[in-house]
Amino acid sequence: MRGMLIIGLYLLAMLAHAGVAMSARDALRYRTEADPHGLIADMRQQLDKLGGSAAPAQERDLLWLMGTAAVNVNDDTALTEALLRLDSLAAARHYDLAAASAGFLRSRHLIASGNGDGISEALRAAAKVQDATDPKIIAWAKYNLCDAYAMSERASGAMPLCEQAQDAYRALGDTWSLAEAENDQGVNFAGLNQPEKAIELYQRSRQHFASLGAEQMVAMVGDNLAQMYLKVGRAKEALLLSQASLAQEQATGRISDALVSRANIALDYATLGQSARALSTISAAVDDARAAKMDGLLPELLERRSRMSEQAGQPRQALDDAREVIRLLGERNATTLHSDEVSLEARYATRENELRIQTLEHQNRLQELALKTAQAEAAEHVESQQRQALVGMLTKGVSVALILIAGLLYLLLRAQRRYAAELRVQALRDPLTGVDNRRAFMQRATALLGDDHAPRLTHVLMLIDFDHFKRVNDSAGHPQGDRVLSMVADYLSCAIVDVGHIARIGGEEFAVLCPRLGADAGLRLAETLRAGVAALSLPAAVPLDHITISIGVALFDGDRCHDLGSWMRAADAALYSAKSFGRNRVVASSLLH
Ligand code: GH3
Ligand code: MG
Ligand code: MG
Repeated sequence: MRGMLIIGLYLLAMLAHAGVAMSARDALRYRTEADPHGLIADMRQQLDKLGGSAAPAQERDLLWLMGTAAVNVNDDTALTEALLRLDSLAAARHYDLAAASAGFLRSRHLIASGNGDGISEALRAAAKVQDATDPKIIAWAKYNLCDAYAMSERASGAMPLCEQAQDAYRALGDTWSLAEAENDQGVNFAGLNQPEKAIELYQRSRQHFASLGAEQMVAMVGDNLAQMYLKVGRAKEALLLSQASLAQEQATGRISDALVSRANIALDYATLGQSARALSTISAAVDDARAAKMDGLLPELLERRSRMSEQAGQPRQALDDAREVIRLLGERNATTLHSDEVSLEARYATRENELRIQTLEHQNRLQELALKTAQAEAAEHVESQQRQALVGMLTKGVSVALILIAGLLYLLLRAQRRYAAELRVQALRDPLTGVDNRRAFMQRATALLGDDHAPRLTHVLMLIDFDHFKRVNDSAGHPQGDRVLSMVADYLSCAIVDVGHIARIGGEEFAVLCPRLGADAGLRLAETLRAGVAALSLPAAVPLDHITISIGVALFDGDRCHDLGSWMRAADAALYSAKSFGRNRVVASSLLH
């Protein structure tokens, strides 16, 4: 009897220690972060087992978890699979929740890959469940909007949504989601440079995750918290957190996360004024990253060591590291350009531009360091000149030359900075519709033909021109014309998102490029686009029943057209025929037959 009482007390103590136990659902959510690959495999297996017999809600749950994990680890195949199945579930069962789930996953993917407007996608997804009455769905939509804004670094837009999501989850008693929303709100405060508030939110989020026993989430939020501690001068606490993170990452074999934590620890040491320890920590991390061939992390680690060496008064080491960063970034550029993963093309185009800017910024830093070294040498010369009065004249000449070189380097640096800023402005995006512009289209098409000039399945090019578009402007005014243009562009980009890329190449002319789509699928798609646009309802201010487009289609298989010029001319001729046959139709290039 007494023994049982003791066991009972022991169990109670254990429960109190563990706090709220993790529910089966939370355990699955945990795996989207802690074991995403395993979770994807399990979800696939369960979906296969259920076949067509799954209830819509059950199928949606499995696909949502699978999609979330896929976004977390950048698994494009799993994400595409989840999206296709959610879309067809939404269409076949008129199931808005599935449509919204697909939309939110797309939005996360867009935001994670820094490509496109993830916020509009999230807003469209939320609109699909706007009439929902289930408080769980309402809270879920709020949270996903909050997350989209927060991850897009739009803190002020995100804050009220994250606040509402927290209230809703508190009322529902959903601790896991509450902790997620609190972490996002912390990110918002951090973005608004309010570290004290961010610290409060991160701490709450960590307590909630800890009460569920989700240790890896506690460590992940801990990384955010550490950055804030560092910001408000609480470097010791930051150090403790980063060390705890590191211990956990090492225990679970997350090598790259562990390297990032070590770089953070080095920064903590540097802030604590222990510069020798900081340098040796970062140097050990650099060596380990080299040994583990983690080339992706090397530039960041070297960049950090370069800055630490600079602070420690070792400009030579700083310069050497900065030079290596440039070399590594250059290599990264080259491998990116040769990648033939068509599904990743859009993401790579943006990344490539970012890398170019990054390279330029690094070059600026390199010159800055060279400038500093030159200045240091000049200063040394001036000193020695004072010591050696006899060789004064000669030394003076050298010093003046060095100072001149330093000045020249400074001018070069300024010019290069301007160039980098200019590059950023020359975005590859069309400002009215948000789709690619003509320049982006030409780059993409040229790269495609360079990579794959004899495709197994033909590449498809569509040139699209609005019919009688002047009538829209004449009857409703130019601003309404603009509205119609961007509305149709929205529709077209959604319709082709899985198979190609759209660009605005002229006033009311668009091009759609579908690599390796094949002739039949290409013509079917063109017809779908034409019919889809004709069925769109126009804004009330436009006094027309509908708007139509004409499409010219041309194929590229390395035979019929031999370069981009002839390919575009073929599509243009087909478009011209579509116009002369009466508009609102698709015409394939005569080279097709
Ligand atoms: P169609 O192509 O069928 O022959 O007739 P269209 O009326 O569309 O004629 P065309 O293609 O030659 O002229 C395009 C018109 O589109 C001319 C211009 O007023 C309008 N347009 C071009 N760019 C813009 C734009 O950015 N915004 C608006 N609102 N209108 C534009
Ligand atoms: Mg036109
Ligand atoms: Mg035109």
